[in-house]
This record gives sequence, structure tokens and C-alpha cells, in this order.
Amino acid sequence: MLNATEKQRYLRQLIMPEISETGQAKIGKASVFIAGIGGLRSISASYMTAAGVGRVRLVVRDRVELSNLNRQIMHYTPDIGKGKTRSAEEKLRQLNPGCQLEAIQVSITREDVIDLVRGCDLILDATDNWGTRKILNFAAIALQIPFIYGGVNGFSGMVAFFRPQKTACIECIFPDGPNEPAVPIGVLGPMAGLVAALQCIEAIKHMLGLESSLMNRLLRIDGRNMSFKKTQLTRNKDCNACSGGGNYHVTGNKSDPQRM
Ligand SMILES: [Zn+2]
Repeated sequence: MLNATEKQRYLRQLIMPEISETGQAKIGKASVFIAGIGGLRSISASYMTAAGVGRVRLVVRDRVELSNLNRQIMHYTPDIGKGKTRSAEEKLRQLNPGCQLEAIQVSITREDVIDLVRGCDLILDATDNWGTRKILNFAAIALQIPFIYGGVNGFSGMVAFFRPQKTACIECIFPDGPNEPAVPIGVLGPMAGLVAALQCIEAIKHMLGLESSLMNRLLRIDGRNMSFKKTQLTRNKDCNACSGGGNYHVTGNKSDPQRM
């Protein structure tokens, strides 16, 4: 049961027939795991917190740098040098004090990822490297929780919704991962925002029990010509991550996962 303040805070969601008080209660019971506070993470953590998700767990280890600020809009110029965990906590607690925020400053390793993710019922992938993404994929499969992938590279982006045992996983599509560039890649801030917003829409639909439009599909976005193209994924039986003999891979052209 929402109190008067919550009814006012979430008014525009409560008006939506797909949400109403029933759906808002579902959102309020959800727990989301977001790794890092970068370009994607700034947006996804903000929207999840603003929407009234019950618990948002953030894991990030680095500090705010000047070169982050074109896309990591949760951090401001005075935050340079500050831990991203602290910077994110300050903003998100002000945004919605009713959200249970858990900001953890550690590196994600295969040894500790299960303990870090346990208790959350959804992973929003907002990582900037293939190694961490694989570790999160491992946790999603081990804990049997959905994994919403997002990646950005310049003017282009990708989003996909993976469900362990029911769909492909990220390693089914990109078994070898990308060739990590030695230098930072270009990222257009609004493209990071777009990809993260799409991830959040899928996350909220999942919380509401609505069908995902990206379940087992890879959405490729090209911001230069504004094309949005969905590709159906099929199971690949050789995946190292999810198969134990049962893999998935994308039908169509393969390309590297994109970075944040
Ligand atoms: Zn797989």
C-alpha cells in the first residue's frame, strides 16, 4: 500500500494502466544489480531509483575522471577525483530516499560475484569490459536470473534480454568476446543514454510481468541513420557458459560486443 508521498512521487506511473498501484508494488519489491556507474550505469541507476525499484545494488570501483563527464551524467565536475560509489550514492539518495541503495566499491571477480549478486532478481549489464561481462553472465546463469545486456560504441549500440535456460546467453552470441582495444573507444553520451533507457524499459516490463520485446533478440541501433534492427537468437549447443553442451548463437552477422 503506497503512502500519500509515494502516490505523489509515482503519480505518472500509477496513471498508466500497465502499472497502477499493483504494478508499482511489484516494482517496489524488485531488486536490481548494476555493475559500475559509467555512461550506461548513470542512466540505468537513475531510472531504476526514480521508478521506485525496491533495491538497487551498485558495484563500481573507480573514481570520477574529467573524461567521464560527456556521458556519465550522474557525476558532475566537482565530483572529479571522488569515488564513483560515493558520487552515485549522493545523487541517488537525494533522488529517491525510499529506494534501498546498496553501493559497493569492489572489483567484481568470478570468486565473489555470486555473493555480490545474490538477493537481486535482475542484472543490468552496464560493464565496460568483456571480462566483467562474462563474470556477470556466469552469475546470471548460476543464480538463474535475467541478464539485460547493453553496449555502446560511438554512434551505435546493442541491447538484448537473456533468460538462463530459456534463451541464449551473451557468450552464445559472442563466444570469444571482442578484441579489447588498447585505447579508449569513442562513446556518444546520448547513445549511452538511449541504450540504458531501453534496458530500463525492459527491466520494468519484466518486473511488471509484461512480455519482453527483446527476449532472446539482439537489438542493434545505428544512431547515424536511426536504424533499429532486431535479430532473433537461437540456441548454440557449444556455449562454454550456459550449455554444459547447450549453446546459443545469433543468426546473422556476428560482431563484437560493444563497450561502454
Ligand atoms: Zn550461452
